[in-house]
Amino acid sequence: MEKQEPELSRNFKIIKMSANMAKKSELKKEIRIKESWCKGCEICVEFCPHNVLVMKDGIAFVENLQACTACGLCELYCPDFAIEVFVINDKVQVKE
Ligand code: SF4
Ligand code: SF4
Repeated sequence: MEKQEPELSRNFKIIKMSANMAKKSELKKEIRIKESWCKGCEICVEFCPHNVLVMKDGIAFVENLQACTACGLCELYCPDFAIEVFVINDKVQVKE
């Protein structure tokens, strides 16, 4: 029989995840969109859980960088490798 996770432990995990997301939203981020590679499919806009991206003149556009948690979904799902997410803290550039 599968072991049930206690309610308290599950809630604690959710609180911890929320705290991590909040920390990530405080990090310095940069989203680069290679306009010439973007075919305007809107996948990144649809998958972004925080409505950071919009379409402008048929190309993906960063409308609300502050809300970005650097989850990387947009970069992961872009079929044309046209979008990249960079996370930089004060000391280390995590990704170049
Ligand atoms: S990294 Fe995540 S939150 Fe940021 S723009 Fe991409 S999908 Fe949205
Ligand atoms: S998923 Fe990629 S190709 Fe599609 S709109 Fe976004 S950046 Fe452009």
